[in-house]
Amino acid sequence: MSKTMLNISGIQVEVTRKNIKNMHLSVKPPNGKVTVSAPIQMTDDAIDRFVRIKIGWVKRQIAKFEMQPRQSKREYVSGETLYVWGKQYYMRVEHSNRNSLILQNNNAILKVREESTVKQRESFVREWYRGLLKAEIARLLPKWEQITELKSAGYRTQYMTTRWGTCNLKTGIIRFNLQLAKKPPECLEYVILHELAHFIERTHNARFVAVMDEYMPMWREIKKTLNSQILDYM
Ligand SMILES: [Zn+2]
Repeated sequence: MSKTMLNISGIQVEVTRKNIKNMHLSVKPPNGKVTVSAPIQMTDDAIDRFVRIKIGWVKRQIAKFEMQPRQSKREYVSGETLYVWGKQYYMRVEHSNRNSLILQNNNAILKVREESTVKQRESFVREWYRGLLKAEIARLLPKWEQITELKSAGYRTQYMTTRWGTCNLKTGIIRFNLQLAKKPPECLEYVILHELAHFIERTHNARFVAVMDEYMPMWREIKKTLNSQILDYM
């Protein structure tokens, strides 16, 4: 595996050559870094041509990341803010031998061991979000399955930085982004319906949109809310 940098149309592209068959281009969060994985034998010229064909898409992806407001890296100290179901809380860190996170008025009181590292605090808060999210999915997924008469084979929760949900049409399992627990509750309902709708239609074509329109006429507004809010570190 070797990494090189290419400047293509004024954009820095990190190229990794490895033992693969096809070229793969991606624009990665959080800053819109452009990377290409390419077969070992591929010349720089061929990579350059490949990226240029898709340059419009690359620029749009970069612009998306630039527009997205992002919170700076968390340290889990007092004064930071925490979003839960769309509401903002101010974090107050206290020391205790038993970890807990309690919401009280506008405060999120995080109790952790004094010597705990940022990583340990982060993983505690992440699991706390997971608990909240799972409880809501357990309530809302059956509700939407009943309304739509579509059935999933179950769900998983996962920390993701670019997607709110995914579904595996082969297994019928839906994956939900843990960060949905930070967004207003209707966003979770929207993602549930969106993923269920994929059981009818794989792509986001007119048929898919018709399903969304039928069950959730306001889905476009909710989608806007979902994507306009801060997608942060947790
Ligand atoms: Zn989709």
